[in-house]
Amino acid sequence: MRSGRHFLQIPGPTNTPDRILRAMHRAVIDHRGPEFAALGRNVLTGLKAVFKTDNRVVVYPASGTGAWEAALVNVLAPGDRVLMYETGQFATLWKNMAAKLGYDPVFMQGDWRTGTNAEAIGAHLADDKDHRIKAVCVVHNDTATGITSDVAAVRRAMDDAGHPALLMVDTISSLGSIDFRTDEWGVDVVVAGSQKGLMLPPGLSFNAISPKAWEVCEAGGDLRSYWDWRDMAGPNDQGFFPYTPATTLLFGLREALDMLNEEGLDNVFARHSRHAEATRIAVDAWGLEILAANPAERSNTLTAVMMPDDKGANALRAEILDTFDMSLGTGLNKVADRVFRIGHLGDFNDLMLMGTLCGVEMGLFRAGVPYRKGGVQTAMDYLSV
Ligand SMILES: *Cc1c(COP(=O)(O)O)cnc(C)c1O
Repeated sequence: MRSGRHFLQIPGPTNTPDRILRAMHRAVIDHRGPEFAALGRNVLTGLKAVFKTDNRVVVYPASGTGAWEAALVNVLAPGDRVLMYETGQFATLWKNMAAKLGYDPVFMQGDWRTGTNAEAIGAHLADDKDHRIKAVCVVHNDTATGITSDVAAVRRAMDDAGHPALLMVDTISSLGSIDFRTDEWGVDVVVAGSQKGLMLPPGLSFNAISPKAWEVCEAGGDLRSYWDWRDMAGPNDQGFFPYTPATTLLFGLREALDMLNEEGLDNVFARHSRHAEATRIAVDAWGLEILAANPAERSNTLTAVMMPDDKGANALRAEILDTFDMSLGTGLNKVADRVFRIGHLGDFNDLMLMGTLCGVEMGLFRAGVPYRKGGVQTAMDYLSV
């Protein structure tokens, strides 16, 4: 028995607000009936504002990984080359998936401390004279490294190279938290998920699809059935789905969209930016280093903090979980045990952040990690004005 609330400060799944929990706490309805059609139309239309797009958005009853697969199989044919960029573990997993599915990913090597290099992507595309590369895939906010890449710059580099590849972007841990402009940045396929900035439990994922990507899908693509965009269009136009949707999560999604609208997307982004800055100030005051080397690329949804050399991040996380009932994100793959990640996204406010930072600072002390006291105080000073 543990009293009080668990602090779920991993960078997704995030805390689901009571309003959304209540919206989902109801009987399932007929997914072919008129009440459902209204719900379906509401969410399919409402999502466009969050994606900043006029394009079609489709919803899958799947985790984000499903929407990754949907993005690939709807536009790529077996053997097609895709240019992908290593910003961290999530970019790596998407690349691994592309290889497993029989595509030909070219993985531009990164150092896990910096974001996509648009110039290098442009140079690569300029060399691809016979346009063998069919898509460029980047992760807007790599949740393993806490790095946000400049997607607009990638678009410009593609245009400057005069290359026709599709631009596909994973926004699973940024959509609804960090500004993302599908149409303005010319993103052909957006991949998103329910359990991070959208504040829902895991189980829904999304693709936003440009007319150009839709044409490629109609003309080609791979063998696909469950993920087939084409099967979605007809039913979706009536508010329905080709198979049983996750009705309960869609009730939650409607509430989440209402909440984002009520707060206003710009205010949501500003809130995330402020909490991220307070976190970075605290980390700096502790004398610890942030994994993202370039200040302009530091994520507003999570901060990956590097451990001093001989100290393991997992021992610290275990101490904090055990003593203070708070979950922090683990280090993945190349930075396993070298970093811990503080999630500061979704349904989150100043006092939740302060509780989180207090838990980290007390944990650093208890785990015997060398640090300077006072990070919490500097964050408080920042938030107080
Ligand atoms: C969480 C996440 C994923 C994986 O999504 P699942 O819902 O776990 O399948 C992919 N990419 C990014 C950037 C993520 O944050």
